[in-house]
Amino acid sequence: MLWLALGPFHAMENQVLVIRIKIPNSGAVDWTVHSGPQLLFRDVLDVIGQVLPEATTTAFEYEDEDGDRITVRSDEEMKAMLSYYYSTVMEQQVNGQLIEPLQIFPRACKPPGERNIHGLKVNTRAGPSQHGSPAVSDSLPSNSLKKSSAELKKILANGQMNEQDIRYRDTLGHGNGGTVYKAYHVPSGKILAVKVILLDITLELQKQIMSELEILYKCDSSYIIGFYGAFFVENRISICTEFMDGGSLDVYRKIPEHVLGRIAIAVVKGLTYLWSLKILHRDVKPSNMLVNTRGQVKLCDFGVSTQLVNSIAKTYVGTNAYMAPERISGEQYGIHSDVWSLGISFMEIQKNQGSLMPLQLLQCIVDEDSPVLPVGEFSEPFVHFITQCMRKQPKERPAPEDLMGSDKVQHYHHNLLNGPKGHPFIMQFNDGNAAVVSMWVCRALEERRSQQGSP
Ligand code: ATP
Ligand code: MG
Repeated sequence: MLWLALGPFHAMENQVLVIRIKIPNSGAVDWTVHSGPQLLFRDVLDVIGQVLPEATTTAFEYEDEDGDRITVRSDEEMKAMLSYYYSTVMEQQVNGQLIEPLQIFPRACKPPGERNIHGLKVNTRAGPSQHGSPAVSDSLPSNSLKKSSAELKKILANGQMNEQDIRYRDTLGHGNGGTVYKAYHVPSGKILAVKVILLDITLELQKQIMSELEILYKCDSSYIIGFYGAFFVENRISICTEFMDGGSLDVYRKIPEHVLGRIAIAVVKGLTYLWSLKILHRDVKPSNMLVNTRGQVKLCDFGVSTQLVNSIAKTYVGTNAYMAPERISGEQYGIHSDVWSLGISFMEIQKNQGSLMPLQLLQCIVDEDSPVLPVGEFSEPFVHFITQCMRKQPKERPAPEDLMGSDKVQHYHHNLLNGPKGHPFIMQFNDGNAAVVSMWVCRALEERRSQQGSP
């Protein structure tokens, strides 16, 4: 399929885009656009102005897959919306479903004001509401079932997350000690990722783990996986988190550097956030870096509960290939040890062709020099980034401000005047361009599906 080579934006370029403008309390108007990807924010406002001449509209919203409303106020945000929409269209096409129009919800601010409706070139078409038909999809039950994140948080704060409300679906993967399921949360209509870990521990320890996990409710960063709650049933704990439809980075093949750089900056921002809360991740590795088709990158499985970590360790002993040398030899663990794991994770992602065996890696970590990436195959800033993160001496590795720049990291300032500006490899990609990651995830998922589909 052409998409595989060009990505969703290009594939959609020649397709007609139908935008369904929802009218509060009445219905909707479908607007057919022939140049979707070139559409500007201003064009949309103009059409809304025609549809709702009584109101002054300055922004509009669309719904993400969780039913949360996202506001669009600029061309940048338009791009993000279109990229998200095209990824859903792609999924609908792959699954042989009907293509849903892009639904938008105008946000009227002031009462009727002066509104300049200058010569529109866009092709508008009256929707069903103008022909007297009922609202297109206002009354669809699936919408009313959906709740916003804020509402979901409220449900969870009341301790309503429990086994009865969860319908387990697919298995997403097995790890050291746990199994992660994709699950449906009936009261909220949300899809969750639920990690179930078998733990034979006392009630006292169970309580301690639950209270240690409390801090997860306070974690509020777009680079950290959303936490919905946890509960024990008999000898197993279920930890409910946000589901990431792109899965973890360990299953992706070599990633183009302009995508990898944007992933790396998100991972560094996630780590910097945790460090600012005095939380060390302790398990930085590709399988704990998750991505989704919206282009978000989030960290999961960080060690907030000492008791949980200890209890799992009692059952499943082992070192892993991402551990810093000082950790393997039993010395103190610090931010620097997370930085090592960051370096080795990105090294492995780029060498993800099976050439670097974890055991070999582990051996050279303790006995020999750090592994180095071949220059020539990778850019100089990337090789430098990895080499610095993987210095054997913890203190020689970049500190948080050397990764992100000192103005971004108030918690670790030393010399602010001549402070570090962050590492060039990641800073060059610090532009918040989620569309790059989004398209790459969509394309990879599409490739994976077509490979699974072929005999
Ligand atoms: P470890 O147990 O050492 O952390 P792991 O990270 O591979 O190893 P799990 O944490 O149990 O194992 O996760 C298993 C797999 O489930 C992961 O590799 C990932 O692909 C998937 N997964 C985990 N959390 C989510 C999530 N929130 N959304 C989507 N997929 C997830
Ligand atoms: Mg994990």
